[in-house]
Amino acid sequence: MTEQTAKGNGRSRHIILTSHPSRFGSQALPIEWGATDPLKRGPIVASLSDPEHRNVIGTHSGAYAIYRALAVASGSLQADHRPDLTDTSPVTSIGPHPSWVGADKIVSLDPFGALVGEVYQPLIQQGYDIRPTIAVTQAHIQMPELQEAVQKGRIAEDGKIMKPGGDLVVTKAAIEPVWYLPGVAQRLGITEADLRYALFEQTGGMFPELVTRPDIQVFLPPIGGITVYMLGDLNAITHPDRPLAVRVHDECNGSDVFGSDICTCRPYLVHGIEACIQTAQAGGAGVIVYFRKEGRALGEVTKFLVYNARKRQAGGDRADAYFTRTECVAGVQDVRFQELMPDVLHWLGISRIDRFVSMSDMKYNAITHAGIEIVERVPIPDELVPADAKVEIEAKKAAGYFSGSAGALTAEALARIQGRDLI
Ligand SMILES: [Zn+2]
Repeated sequence: MTEQTAKGNGRSRHIILTSHPSRFGSQALPIEWGATDPLKRGPIVASLSDPEHRNVIGTHSGAYAIYRALAVASGSLQADHRPDLTDTSPVTSIGPHPSWVGADKIVSLDPFGALVGEVYQPLIQQGYDIRPTIAVTQAHIQMPELQEAVQKGRIAEDGKIMKPGGDLVVTKAAIEPVWYLPGVAQRLGITEADLRYALFEQTGGMFPELVTRPDIQVFLPPIGGITVYMLGDLNAITHPDRPLAVRVHDECNGSDVFGSDICTCRPYLVHGIEACIQTAQAGGAGVIVYFRKEGRALGEVTKFLVYNARKRQAGGDRADAYFTRTECVAGVQDVRFQELMPDVLHWLGISRIDRFVSMSDMKYNAITHAGIEIVERVPIPDELVPADAKVEIEAKKAAGYFSGSAGALTAEALARIQGRDLI
């Protein structure tokens, strides 16, 4: 591709497509993914303020890059704005851990992403616009279910992990995706060429460099990221003799935020937080990993279409037809690709999880295949499952999800599990 002329803001403008080799990253620093020394690994330069320095495809902020574009287009943001990062450094340091080394354990985030202001300071002083892809802060959180757990004596307000009044003290990290394409392809068992072509084609050709620049191996995809909530003494997360509870949760806005009763997402999330508090109060730590993968990463429009199809199908909403309806609408049951999920656990240096609060066989398999031991799997207690969510939970157990001592239902019993009608 070469150069084109476009019009914008009432004036003629020269557009230089970055797929032109001589116009892209001629002063770019090389990236050696997995190198121990961050300077040898090389910084991720995804900012647009100096195209000559860029050494990756895509840019910062995931999907929010589009809103940044609107701000620039509407004149409220200077296109070449560089962030003032004074006082933005992490409140606590995470890593480096041995799991950061090598090009196979972490392929979908930059382990040095929170440390760029520290480890790349000499390059920043030379004028490289290197931005954090991870931010780490502290907060208090409040959830009404946790107050109930205090009242029933399952957890205590110890004044440290949980303050009087139920404020839970957390350290939280926000993580933007940074994909090392050869590693992502290897994780999914496909060729890098096939991965690049599908990404290029399925984004409507949004990133031409995916196919024109095989030498650029790192891609910042325009997708949602990860939030990690950590409880208790963070040193316990990697300590071999101290217990660790983990829940890996995929976003479900309808349940997590609005309390929808069609699924078990919020009750299970809260149960995971309760397990984290108990484990932290027993001298360990707890980790909740929250992925922006709404509706099994099929999105909320698809999800609501499926809800309608489930409720309106002949015979009503049934556990034995739960996955079929998703397949009819989306063509596939699930696109969360848990193969990439354990990267965040490796970023935290986790090698053993004592209490894994999840019934998902896909999550369990991904974590154990990544070399992380899981000691105990914690299913959601029956009393926390909303009535209308029985369809989902029994369908998942029948499909191979961990079901504890109760086990999965027979096909006949599964067909008898019915949800509510639409209204
Ligand atoms: Zn849900």
